[in-house]
Amino acid sequence: MQTDSYRHKGMRRALVKLLREKGIRDERVLAAIETVPRHYFFDKAFLEQAYQDKAFPIGEGQTISQPYTVAFQTELLLLKPTDKVLEIGTGSGYQCTILLQITPNVYTIEYNRPLYEKARIFFRKHGLNPHTFHGDGSQGLPAHAPFDKIIVTAGAPIVPKELLKQLTIGGVLVIPVGDEQSQKMLRITRVEENEFTKEEFSNFKFVPLLGRSGWDGGEKF
Ligand code: SAM
Repeated sequence: MQTDSYRHKGMRRALVKLLREKGIRDERVLAAIETVPRHYFFDKAFLEQAYQDKAFPIGEGQTISQPYTVAFQTELLLLKPTDKVLEIGTGSGYQCTILLQITPNVYTIEYNRPLYEKARIFFRKHGLNPHTFHGDGSQGLPAHAPFDKIIVTAGAPIVPKELLKQLTIGGVLVIPVGDEQSQKMLRITRVEENEFTKEEFSNFKFVPLLGRSGWDGGEKF
């Protein structure tokens, strides 16, 4: 069983200080990062890496996102405690656990079966209750739509139309879009049934979004 020591808590405080210096302002996001033991998502051999501001391999060719990226995307969501949120790309479950600190109503979908199973076990073991799904999140989760917020944690070649359809009016989609080397972070808001606004932020590098509207799909353009 992993423990959360004073040393780990100290490392989290230092990480939060760094994220503030890098421009993260949302106090709920910073509090969530300070609360969630990121080292629980790492194998014991790599505990030292858990509080560095870096992405890290989680197996299956995937990564746990850099803390700054998690904080930046979560801040862009403008999360409210009543929001129903969809996360695409459960991965290690860390981003989902951060979302759960702010709203209890989180849906998360993962394409890779072993990672999906591992995250489910992790959530159960830690008493966390997101709605977990295995499948192609590039098509969202139509049976459970609409969502107030959708966050995509893999780099997409396009903004999938299905995700736009699954937003509430006033809903927000945060998604990195670009080529395989670099993606621009976008925040898309559904202001009316058929009206969307788009804001562009800095560039990031994510693992590729797979699936029908992802890099291995037929619906690129
Ligand atoms: N949010 C994760 C975390 O906190 O650890 C990091 C996710 S990792 C950067 C991206 C994840 O997206 C990978 O686990 C990958 O398998 C998943 N993924 C890629 N394409 C997907 C798709 N179409 N649907 C669902 N998950 C997908």
